Amino acid sequence: MTNKINITLSATKKEKPNADQLEFGRTFTDHMFIMDYSAAKGWYDPRIVPYEPISLSPSTMVFHYGQTVFEGLKAYRSSEDKVLLFRPDKNMHRLNLSNDRLCIPQIDEEFVIEALKELVSIDKEWIPTAEGTSLYIRPFIIPTEYYLGVAPSKYYRFMIILSPVGSYYKEGIHPVKIFVENQYVRAVDGGTGKAKTGGNYASSLKAQEEAEKRGYSQVLWLDGVEKKYIEEVGSMNIFFKINGEVITPSLNGSILEGVTRNSILHLLKHWNVPVSERKLSMEDVYNAYKEGLLEEAFGTGTAAVISPIGELFYNEENIVLNNGETGELTKKLYDTLTGIQTGNHEDVFNW
Ligand code: PMP
Repeated sequence: MTNKINITLSATKKEKPNADQLEFGRTFTDHMFIMDYSAAKGWYDPRIVPYEPISLSPSTMVFHYGQTVFEGLKAYRSSEDKVLLFRPDKNMHRLNLSNDRLCIPQIDEEFVIEALKELVSIDKEWIPTAEGTSLYIRPFIIPTEYYLGVAPSKYYRFMIILSPVGSYYKEGIHPVKIFVENQYVRAVDGGTGKAKTGGNYASSLKAQEEAEKRGYSQVLWLDGVEKKYIEEVGSMNIFFKINGEVITPSLNGSILEGVTRNSILHLLKHWNVPVSERKLSMEDVYNAYKEGLLEEAFGTGTAAVISPIGELFYNEENIVLNNGETGELTKKLYDTLTGIQTGNHEDVFNW
């Protein structure tokens, strides 16, 4: 494929929302990146064009069997007005892992990062600068063949769209209440849990809706076989601090490997905090709580970065952590990671 990106700038500029009006994923910038795929041409015609609706036949495969993949990462504008991306190589690599699982052709990771940089620099003015705000970047791939057969599509479209997002914690970082899900499951080993594909999110909606009705903000997912071992929390990875040791479930085939998870593991090791990736059951967590050893718990993901857990509802009982307040280590991790992301903290890892 040619690596030349064709650029068509928008004739008009949309009005940018105020930082305090930003809602996650509702507003989009002036431009988007597109490239297409066919077996004969490979990925071809990379282009940056004005953000606008696309037209597809109702028979396009994307509307039928969910052969889709996506990513989520953020750009920040530093106090010196530099645009910062956080570990985009990890996201593009994960996109290819998802592609492999969904029978979608591999992308050239380096080229796509270049395309992403070009797009973000064109729409740089859209990166909000108020504390906690950022530009959310959504790369995704859809199958574009007109066909109703269940088979991998012969044609694809890769796109990147950008959305300015507000601070997740408008009133400061605050712990959330979590419902430990004992009926629905998110993923199983051998399924698609470790890929970032639409179906995983569609199948999570029911549990999320029911948890919300009961007053919880997210569900904690247990393994899909025994419903015993801890997997993830909502669309975040999960960490527990028990008796001085930080534990996160090991990657078992059904857990998504988060970029934030990986970054937290690096930071903890760098600080010499005891940390392990292993199988952890909800019963282990409950027993630690009963013994007074359960110190902190938090979810990790691009959207919230770190989300402290204040309460877990498990077996008709409320497990309250750290008096429902944000733990010391949770806060330190949040401050350090957001500091690195925004260029306000030393970046020893060159992220
Ligand atoms: N698990 C799931 C299911 C997710 O959707 C996400 C968000 N991508 C994560 C974990 C966290 O991943 P990351 O830290 O890369 O955002």
